Amino acid sequence: MPELPEVEHVARGLRPHVLNHKIIDVTFSEAVKSGKASGKETIIKQIALDDFKKFVTNTTIELIERRSKYIIFHLMKEHHQTIYCVGHLGMAGAFFVKPSVEDIPIPNYKKHWHVQFKLSNGQMMIYSDIRRFGEFKILDESAFKTFNQNIAPEPFDEHAMDYFLNQCKQKKFKNKPIKQVIMDHSVVSGCGNIYACEALHLARILPMHITHTLSTQKKKKLFKCIVDVLNKGIQYGGSSISDYRNVEGESGDMQNKFNVYGLKQCNTCGHTISTIVIATRNTHYCEKCQK
Ligand SMILES: [Zn+2]
Repeated sequence: MPELPEVEHVARGLRPHVLNHKIIDVTFSEAVKSGKASGKETIIKQIALDDFKKFVTNTTIELIERRSKYIIFHLMKEHHQTIYCVGHLGMAGAFFVKPSVEDIPIPNYKKHWHVQFKLSNGQMMIYSDIRRFGEFKILDESAFKTFNQNIAPEPFDEHAMDYFLNQCKQKKFKNKPIKQVIMDHSVVSGCGNIYACEALHLARILPMHITHTLSTQKKKKLFKCIVDVLNKGIQYGGSSISDYRNVEGESGDMQNKFNVYGLKQCNTCGHTISTIVIATRNTHYCEKCQK
């Protein structure tokens, strides 16, 4: 699943091609249309396709924001009223900006396009998704405010560490394994399975420790390590695990920088990597480096 660094690169890749352009039409794939017709919420969530199209058409893309693992399009309607189109890439979603679907450079993504936004500059902003776990929602001002409040501050914000330390004390989280807690976006925003494993390794903390048993000093160290691995992920263009592709159809290099995730031997000490399932997610750790 794309995590914060991968989504950050998708947002960065989209901006130069689509900002300040108008959406003049929206087209859905047959899979989206038949899915919605049979009562499944295929990609377009909580709104009928006609209504989605009505809301989005004739708006100007004034801002593209990444928030946790979401891409948020601020769409300005006439009279300067803004609506928010909140996108999530699911397991393997990708955006392309091309004159047509035929120009998508990767066959699998060309075949599995699902939403096309026709832009006033003659380009198409195309959402492709091989596994169809991605989603789009339309939120008004107050729904957007609620959405934002339910997610922890961005990890790079100055208040994010205090927020994290406070959330760790809450009844909901204090008796859960630390790895599960840092993957919850109401505790840390944008940290999924891969970066959680890497951050715990960097902090030399075992993933199964119950949150309240860790000292404040250790939790602070862990939070700094989360920020470090997310920054490193951004620096290397994200990882190519889970079919991640940026707007140019490229994957990142971060997978070559992993110290523990998906490896047989620890990149730091050479010890065999151990695996454990925590809250349904495969967790990789080094029993020699992490205590
Ligand atoms: Zn090790």
